[in-house]
Amino acid sequence: MKKKTTSAARRTAVKRFHILTIFPHGLDSYLGESLLRHAQEKKLISVEAHDIRAFATGKHRKTDDRPFGGGPGMVFKVEPIYGAVESIVRRSRVARKKRRVILFSLRGKKLDARVARRLVRYDELVLIAGRYEGVDERVAEHIADEEISIGDYVLSGGELPALVLLEAVSRFIPGFLGKSESLEDMKGSYPTYTRPEIFVPKKGKAWRVPNALREGDHKKIEEWRRNHGSK
Ligand code: SAM
Repeated sequence: MKKKTTSAARRTAVKRFHILTIFPHGLDSYLGESLLRHAQEKKLISVEAHDIRAFATGKHRKTDDRPFGGGPGMVFKVEPIYGAVESIVRRSRVARKKRRVILFSLRGKKLDARVARRLVRYDELVLIAGRYEGVDERVAEHIADEEISIGDYVLSGGELPALVLLEAVSRFIPGFLGKSESLEDMKGSYPTYTRPEIFVPKKGKAWRVPNALREGDHKKIEEWRRNHGSK
């Protein structure tokens, strides 16, 4: 008899993240720390970095080439990216509709909590980190399901955007934060303080924790947080 998948089992299914990059080891230190490390140990998520260069051909395994029509800089070639995505898809046991292939691009949709919440519904996210002056447009046209930007500023590659998305999405996985309440649950964010109540810097006046937070009156605390939180 076919086993029924309960909603609890669906929620705890491991989310698979694949990061395609020409610098796979550049991600190691961040992935090996704190909540992302714990989430991997708890098998809530799996993260694999794939070296796109391994799918490049020729003696020098070149991943870039000059742009058609001329212009400055080099362009990320389509073939190695195609090869890397294909190799993931070939080995994947995840149904096509539960997989999302994302290309990081300045022209993409801006990443925010709503986008992260939408993406957490997929079981497998394939994240393509661009490099050079840009990525051959055929990747956006034929390989990626969508393009995502993390903001209106230019980074040298899509590795940091991939880590940002990975963490933003993972925070919506039940169990990732290790506690039921988080700042996100409180409708946005508010300023927080911890001990000491009064900090005296080397120069100038003491820095104090607001009275409303120190007095233990929960109504006052809630009101203060509402008034000082993000809208
Ligand atoms: N002039 C290029 C353009 O307008 O696309 C800039 C390319 S950037 C130097 C190289 C790669 O880094 C991009 O293809 C993209 O994958 C990634 N990237 C840089 N900044 C990004 C951002 N704010 N959001 C998402 N990806 C970004």
